Amino acid sequence: MTKQRITVENKRIINNSKTVDCNQLVPIKYRWAWNYYLDACANHWMPTEVSMQRDIEQWKDPKAFSDDERHVVKRVLGFFATAESLVGNNLVLAVYRCVDNPECRQYLLRQAFEEAIHIHTFQYIVQSLSLDEGEMFNMYREVGSIYNKDEYAMSCTSSVLDPNLDTKTKEGLQTLLKNMVGLYVITEGIFFYGGFVTMLSFGRQNRIPGICEQIQYILRDESIHMNFGIDLINAIREENPWVWDQQFERTIMEFIKNAVELEYKYCEECLPNGVLGLNTNLLREYIQYLADRRFKRLGLPEVYGSSNPFPWMSEVIDLKKEKNFFETRVNEYQAGGALEW
Ligand code: FE
Ligand code: MN
Repeated sequence: MTKQRITVENKRIINNSKTVDCNQLVPIKYRWAWNYYLDACANHWMPTEVSMQRDIEQWKDPKAFSDDERHVVKRVLGFFATAESLVGNNLVLAVYRCVDNPECRQYLLRQAFEEAIHIHTFQYIVQSLSLDEGEMFNMYREVGSIYNKDEYAMSCTSSVLDPNLDTKTKEGLQTLLKNMVGLYVITEGIFFYGGFVTMLSFGRQNRIPGICEQIQYILRDESIHMNFGIDLINAIREENPWVWDQQFERTIMEFIKNAVELEYKYCEECLPNGVLGLNTNLLREYIQYLADRRFKRLGLPEVYGSSNPFPWMSEVIDLKKEKNFFETRVNEYQAGGALEW
Protein backbone atom coordinates (compact mmCIF):
# COMPACT_ATOMS: atom_id res chain seq x y z
CA MET A 1 0.00 0.00 0.00
CA THR A 2 1.15 3.52 -0.74
CA LYS A 3 -0.36 6.93 -0.15
CA GLN A 4 1.52 8.46 -3.06
CA ARG A 5 -1.15 9.72 -5.48
CA ILE A 6 -0.52 9.97 -9.23
CA THR A 7 -0.38 13.48 -10.68
CA VAL A 8 -0.28 14.50 -14.32
CA GLU A 9 3.34 15.53 -13.86
CA ASN A 10 4.48 11.93 -13.38
CA LYS A 11 2.65 10.58 -16.40
CA ARG A 12 4.52 9.67 -19.61
CA ILE A 13 3.45 8.04 -22.89
CA ILE A 14 5.94 5.16 -22.49
CA ASN A 15 8.10 3.63 -19.76
CA ASN A 16 5.67 4.39 -16.93
CA SER A 17 5.64 1.01 -15.23
CA LYS A 18 8.43 1.61 -12.71
CA THR A 19 7.17 5.02 -11.56
CA VAL A 20 3.47 5.37 -12.38
CA ASP A 21 0.67 2.81 -12.12
CA CYS A 22 -0.60 2.25 -15.66
CA ASN A 23 -4.08 1.25 -14.41
CA GLN A 24 -5.13 4.76 -13.50
CA LEU A 25 -6.86 6.78 -16.24
CA VAL A 26 -7.60 9.89 -14.18
CA PRO A 27 -6.10 12.48 -13.82
CA ILE A 28 -6.00 12.70 -17.61
CA LYS A 29 -2.83 14.23 -18.98
CA TYR A 30 -3.15 13.46 -22.70
CA ARG A 31 -6.56 15.00 -23.45
CA TRP A 32 -5.99 14.52 -27.21
CA ALA A 33 -5.80 10.72 -26.76
CA TRP A 34 -9.02 10.70 -24.72
CA ASN A 35 -10.72 12.82 -27.42
CA TYR A 36 -9.69 10.32 -30.11
CA TYR A 37 -11.36 7.64 -28.01
CA LEU A 38 -14.59 9.67 -27.74
CA ASP A 39 -14.60 10.44 -31.49
CA ALA A 40 -14.06 6.79 -32.33
CA CYS A 41 -16.97 5.71 -30.13
CA ALA A 42 -19.24 8.26 -31.83
CA ASN A 43 -18.45 6.52 -35.16
CA HIS A 44 -19.49 3.04 -34.08
CA TRP A 45 -20.87 0.77 -36.80
CA MET A 46 -21.19 -2.95 -37.61
CA PRO A 47 -20.84 -4.54 -41.07
CA THR A 48 -23.92 -6.71 -40.62
CA GLU A 49 -26.06 -3.55 -40.36
CA VAL A 50 -25.34 -2.85 -44.05
CA SER A 51 -27.53 -4.57 -46.64
CA MET A 52 -25.60 -6.59 -49.24
CA GLN A 53 -28.66 -7.35 -51.38
CA ARG A 54 -27.80 -5.16 -54.35
CA ASP A 55 -24.14 -6.17 -54.23
CA ILE A 56 -25.11 -9.85 -54.38
CA GLU A 57 -27.44 -9.27 -57.34
CA GLN A 58 -24.85 -7.24 -59.21
CA TRP A 59 -22.02 -9.68 -58.52
CA LYS A 60 -24.14 -12.62 -59.79
CA ASP A 61 -24.94 -10.80 -63.04
CA PRO A 62 -22.30 -11.93 -65.56
CA LYS A 63 -22.69 -8.70 -67.52
CA ALA A 64 -22.37 -6.32 -64.57
CA PHE A 65 -18.55 -6.41 -64.34
CA SER A 66 -15.75 -6.79 -66.84
CA ASP A 67 -12.99 -9.32 -66.11
CA ASP A 68 -10.64 -6.46 -65.18
CA GLU A 69 -13.23 -5.10 -62.75
CA ARG A 70 -13.75 -8.49 -61.08
CA HIS A 71 -9.98 -8.86 -60.84
CA VAL A 72 -9.49 -5.56 -59.02
CA VAL A 73 -12.42 -6.11 -56.63
CA LYS A 74 -10.98 -9.49 -55.61
CA ARG A 75 -7.44 -8.16 -55.27
CA VAL A 76 -8.58 -5.34 -53.00
CA LEU A 77 -10.76 -7.60 -50.83
CA GLY A 78 -7.94 -10.18 -50.71
CA PHE A 79 -5.46 -7.58 -49.52
CA PHE A 80 -7.75 -6.22 -46.79
CA ALA A 81 -8.91 -9.69 -45.68
CA THR A 82 -5.57 -10.33 -43.96
CA ALA A 83 -4.08 -6.83 -43.66
CA GLU A 84 -6.68 -5.96 -41.00
CA SER A 85 -5.57 -9.01 -38.97
CA LEU A 86 -1.92 -8.03 -39.28
CA VAL A 87 -2.75 -4.55 -38.01
CA GLY A 88 -4.80 -5.91 -35.10
CA ASN A 89 -2.02 -8.25 -34.02
CA ASN A 90 0.67 -5.60 -34.27
CA LEU A 91 -1.48 -3.24 -32.24
CA VAL A 92 -2.29 -5.67 -29.44
CA LEU A 93 0.97 -7.60 -29.24
CA ALA A 94 3.56 -4.91 -29.99
CA VAL A 95 2.29 -1.32 -29.69
CA TYR A 96 0.01 -1.89 -26.68
CA ARG A 97 2.79 -3.57 -24.72
CA CYS A 98 5.13 -0.58 -25.11
CA VAL A 99 2.68 2.31 -24.88
CA ASP A 100 1.65 2.06 -21.22
CA ASN A 101 -0.08 5.40 -20.65
CA PRO A 102 -3.77 4.75 -19.74
CA GLU A 103 -5.28 7.51 -21.93
CA CYS A 104 -3.43 6.20 -24.99
CA ARG A 105 -4.29 2.61 -24.08
CA GLN A 106 -7.97 3.57 -23.85
CA TYR A 107 -7.83 4.56 -27.51
CA LEU A 108 -5.71 1.51 -28.42
CA LEU A 109 -8.36 -0.76 -26.89
CA ARG A 110 -11.02 0.99 -28.96
CA GLN A 111 -8.87 0.76 -32.09
CA ALA A 112 -8.33 -2.96 -31.48
CA PHE A 113 -12.11 -3.48 -31.44
CA GLU A 114 -12.42 -1.48 -34.67
CA GLU A 115 -9.82 -3.75 -36.29
CA ALA A 116 -11.99 -6.72 -35.24
CA ILE A 117 -14.96 -4.99 -36.93
CA HIS A 118 -12.89 -4.48 -40.08
CA ILE A 119 -11.77 -8.13 -40.10
CA HIS A 120 -15.42 -9.10 -39.65
CA THR A 121 -16.38 -6.82 -42.57
CA PHE A 122 -14.19 -8.65 -45.08
CA GLN A 123 -15.32 -12.03 -43.81
CA TYR A 124 -18.92 -10.80 -44.24
CA ILE A 125 -18.31 -9.51 -47.78
CA VAL A 126 -16.51 -12.68 -48.91
CA GLN A 127 -19.35 -14.79 -47.52
CA SER A 128 -22.11 -12.57 -48.96
CA LEU A 129 -20.67 -12.64 -52.49
CA SER A 130 -19.84 -16.37 -52.17
CA LEU A 131 -16.24 -15.67 -53.11
CA ASP A 132 -13.71 -18.50 -52.86
CA GLU A 133 -12.58 -18.24 -49.22
CA GLY A 134 -9.36 -20.15 -49.85
CA GLU A 135 -8.41 -17.82 -52.68
CA MET A 136 -9.31 -14.64 -50.78
CA PHE A 137 -7.70 -15.44 -47.44
CA ASN A 138 -4.50 -16.87 -48.95
CA MET A 139 -3.90 -13.96 -51.29
CA TYR A 140 -1.34 -12.40 -48.98
CA ARG A 141 0.75 -15.55 -49.45
CA GLU A 142 0.04 -16.18 -53.11
CA VAL A 143 0.05 -12.75 -54.78
CA GLY A 144 3.51 -11.18 -54.87
CA SER A 145 2.46 -7.52 -54.73
CA ILE A 146 0.31 -8.18 -51.63
CA TYR A 147 2.94 -10.36 -49.97
CA ASN A 148 5.56 -7.64 -50.49
CA LYS A 149 3.42 -4.98 -48.82
CA ASP A 150 2.55 -7.14 -45.80
CA GLU A 151 6.12 -8.37 -45.44
CA TYR A 152 7.46 -4.82 -45.65
CA ALA A 153 5.15 -3.39 -43.00
CA MET A 154 5.76 -6.34 -40.69
CA SER A 155 9.53 -6.37 -41.12
CA CYS A 156 10.08 -4.29 -37.98
CA THR A 157 7.33 -5.82 -35.82
CA SER A 158 9.25 -8.92 -34.74
CA SER A 159 11.95 -6.89 -32.95
CA VAL A 160 9.24 -5.11 -30.94
CA LEU A 161 7.88 -8.53 -29.91
CA ASP A 162 11.31 -9.34 -28.39
CA PRO A 163 10.74 -9.40 -24.60
CA ASN A 164 14.22 -7.89 -24.13
CA LEU A 165 13.38 -4.75 -26.12
CA ASP A 166 14.31 -1.75 -23.96
CA THR A 167 12.59 1.45 -25.06
CA LYS A 168 14.71 3.46 -22.62
CA THR A 169 17.65 3.00 -24.99
CA LYS A 170 17.96 4.92 -28.24
CA GLU A 171 18.12 1.77 -30.34
CA GLY A 172 15.14 0.22 -28.56
CA LEU A 173 12.95 3.28 -28.87
CA GLN A 174 13.88 3.72 -32.54
CA THR A 175 12.80 0.11 -33.08
CA LEU A 176 9.40 0.89 -31.55
CA LEU A 177 8.95 4.14 -33.48
CA LYS A 178 9.88 2.51 -36.79
CA ASN A 179 7.30 -0.20 -36.16
CA MET A 180 4.70 2.47 -35.37
CA VAL A 181 5.51 4.26 -38.63
CA GLY A 182 5.10 0.89 -40.40
CA LEU A 183 1.69 0.40 -38.82
CA TYR A 184 0.13 3.86 -38.70
CA VAL A 185 1.79 5.75 -41.54
CA ILE A 186 2.61 3.04 -44.07
CA THR A 187 -0.05 0.35 -43.61
CA GLU A 188 -3.00 2.49 -42.53
CA GLY A 189 -1.88 5.71 -44.23
CA ILE A 190 -0.55 4.48 -47.60
CA PHE A 191 -1.12 0.75 -48.24
CA PHE A 192 -4.88 1.00 -47.64
CA TYR A 193 -5.44 3.82 -50.08
CA GLY A 194 -5.04 2.10 -53.46
CA GLY A 195 -7.87 -0.16 -52.30
CA PHE A 196 -9.98 2.67 -50.91
CA VAL A 197 -9.82 4.71 -54.14
CA THR A 198 -10.63 1.78 -56.40
CA MET A 199 -13.53 0.47 -54.35
CA LEU A 200 -15.05 3.91 -53.84
CA SER A 201 -14.81 4.52 -57.58
CA PHE A 202 -17.34 1.70 -58.02
CA GLY A 203 -19.52 3.41 -55.42
CA ARG A 204 -19.47 6.64 -57.40
CA GLN A 205 -21.17 4.68 -60.20
CA ASN A 206 -23.71 3.16 -57.78
CA ARG A 207 -22.10 -0.26 -58.04
CA ILE A 208 -21.51 -2.65 -55.10
CA PRO A 209 -23.12 -0.03 -52.84
CA GLY A 210 -23.08 -2.14 -49.67
CA ILE A 211 -19.36 -2.87 -49.91
CA CYS A 212 -18.70 0.78 -50.69
CA GLU A 213 -20.68 1.95 -47.68
CA GLN A 214 -18.59 -0.34 -45.48
CA ILE A 215 -15.34 0.79 -47.12
CA GLN A 216 -16.40 4.36 -46.44
CA TYR A 217 -16.82 3.61 -42.73
CA ILE A 218 -13.49 1.79 -42.67
CA LEU A 219 -11.79 4.72 -44.39
CA ARG A 220 -13.16 7.08 -41.77
CA ASP A 221 -11.96 4.78 -38.96
CA GLU A 222 -8.54 4.35 -40.56
CA SER A 223 -8.04 8.04 -41.01
CA ILE A 224 -8.62 8.47 -37.25
CA HIS A 225 -6.26 5.56 -36.50
CA MET A 226 -3.55 7.14 -38.59
CA ASN A 227 -4.00 10.59 -37.08
CA PHE A 228 -3.89 9.16 -33.58
CA GLY A 229 -0.79 7.14 -34.49
CA ILE A 230 1.05 10.15 -35.86
CA ASP A 231 0.13 12.25 -32.80
CA LEU A 232 1.38 9.38 -30.66
CA ILE A 233 4.69 9.17 -32.54
CA ASN A 234 5.13 12.93 -32.31
CA ALA A 235 4.32 12.92 -28.58
CA ILE A 236 6.87 10.16 -27.87
CA ARG A 237 9.40 12.11 -29.87
CA GLU A 238 8.66 15.27 -27.92
CA GLU A 239 9.16 13.51 -24.58
CA ASN A 240 12.30 11.73 -25.79
CA PRO A 241 13.96 14.19 -28.17
CA TRP A 242 17.27 12.28 -28.09
CA VAL A 243 15.72 9.43 -30.09
CA TRP A 244 15.16 11.36 -33.33
CA ASP A 245 18.53 12.18 -34.91
CA GLN A 246 19.27 12.97 -38.56
CA GLN A 247 20.20 9.42 -39.38
CA PHE A 248 16.90 8.14 -37.98
CA GLU A 249 15.03 10.78 -39.94
CA ARG A 250 16.68 9.53 -43.15
CA THR A 251 15.79 5.94 -42.21
CA ILE A 252 12.14 6.88 -41.72
CA MET A 253 11.97 8.82 -44.98
CA GLU A 254 13.46 5.92 -46.94
CA PHE A 255 11.06 3.54 -45.19
CA ILE A 256 8.07 5.61 -46.37
CA LYS A 257 9.44 6.28 -49.87
CA ASN A 258 9.93 2.55 -50.52
CA ALA A 259 6.36 1.95 -49.32
CA VAL A 260 5.10 4.38 -51.98
CA GLU A 261 6.82 2.22 -54.64
CA LEU A 262 5.32 -0.98 -53.20
CA GLU A 263 1.83 0.52 -53.20
CA TYR A 264 2.33 1.63 -56.80
CA LYS A 265 3.43 -1.91 -57.82
CA TYR A 266 0.34 -3.31 -56.09
CA CYS A 267 -1.90 -0.88 -58.01
CA GLU A 268 -0.20 -1.90 -61.28
CA GLU A 269 -0.99 -5.53 -60.51
CA CYS A 270 -4.60 -4.72 -59.54
CA LEU A 271 -5.32 -2.48 -62.53
CA PRO A 272 -3.14 -3.69 -65.41
CA ASN A 273 -5.42 -2.03 -67.99
CA GLY A 274 -7.09 0.68 -65.94
CA VAL A 275 -10.82 0.67 -65.09
CA LEU A 276 -13.43 3.23 -63.99
CA GLY A 277 -11.34 6.16 -65.18
CA LEU A 278 -8.51 5.05 -62.91
CA ASN A 279 -5.06 4.33 -64.24
CA THR A 280 -1.72 3.66 -62.64
CA ASN A 281 -0.39 7.17 -63.34
CA LEU A 282 -3.25 8.80 -61.43
CA LEU A 283 -2.84 6.30 -58.61
CA ARG A 284 0.90 6.98 -58.41
CA GLU A 285 0.19 10.69 -58.17
CA TYR A 286 -2.37 10.09 -55.44
CA ILE A 287 -0.07 7.85 -53.38
CA GLN A 288 2.72 10.43 -53.66
CA TYR A 289 0.32 13.18 -52.63
CA LEU A 290 -0.69 11.13 -49.57
CA ALA A 291 2.94 10.40 -48.67
CA ASP A 292 3.73 14.13 -48.74
CA ARG A 293 0.86 14.78 -46.36
CA ARG A 294 2.18 12.08 -44.02
CA PHE A 295 5.70 13.59 -44.18
CA LYS A 296 4.29 16.97 -43.27
CA ARG A 297 2.39 15.58 -40.26
CA LEU A 298 5.64 13.99 -39.05
CA GLY A 299 7.49 17.29 -39.39
CA LEU A 300 9.49 15.94 -42.34
CA PRO A 301 10.14 17.65 -45.70
CA GLU A 302 7.73 16.90 -48.56
CA VAL A 303 9.30 14.83 -51.35
CA TYR A 304 7.02 14.60 -54.38
CA GLY A 305 5.03 17.82 -54.80
CA SER A 306 2.19 15.88 -56.48
CA SER A 307 -1.34 17.26 -56.45
CA ASN A 308 -4.46 15.31 -55.50
CA PRO A 309 -6.04 13.75 -58.61
CA PHE A 310 -9.06 12.56 -56.56
CA PRO A 311 -10.37 15.59 -54.63
CA TRP A 312 -13.63 13.67 -53.98
CA MET A 313 -11.66 11.35 -51.67
CA SER A 314 -11.13 14.19 -49.19
CA GLU A 315 -14.89 14.67 -48.95
CA VAL A 316 -15.37 11.01 -48.15
CA ILE A 317 -12.70 11.12 -45.43
CA ASP A 318 -14.23 14.20 -43.84
CA LEU A 319 -17.69 12.62 -43.73
CA LYS A 320 -19.23 13.30 -40.36
CA LYS A 321 -21.71 10.70 -39.34
CA GLU A 322 -24.63 11.69 -37.16
CA LYS A 323 -24.16 10.58 -33.58
CA ASN A 324 -27.37 8.53 -33.46
CA PHE A 325 -26.42 6.33 -36.41
CA PHE A 326 -28.22 3.27 -35.11
CA GLU A 327 -31.48 5.13 -34.60
CA THR A 328 -31.52 6.45 -38.13
CA ARG A 329 -30.04 3.55 -40.03
CA VAL A 330 -33.31 1.87 -41.04
CA ASN A 331 -34.55 5.03 -42.71
CA GLU A 332 -31.18 5.54 -44.32
CA TYR A 333 -31.22 2.07 -45.83
CA GLN A 334 -34.81 2.50 -47.02
CA ALA A 335 -33.71 5.67 -48.75
CA GLY A 336 -31.09 3.65 -50.63
CA GLY A 337 -28.08 3.70 -48.34
CA ALA A 338 -26.30 6.32 -46.29
CA LEU A 339 -23.80 7.22 -48.99
CA GLU A 340 -23.64 10.77 -50.29
CA TRP A 341 -21.29 10.98 -53.24
FE1 FE B 1 -8.65 -1.40 -39.89
MN1 MN C 1 -6.77 0.56 -38.42
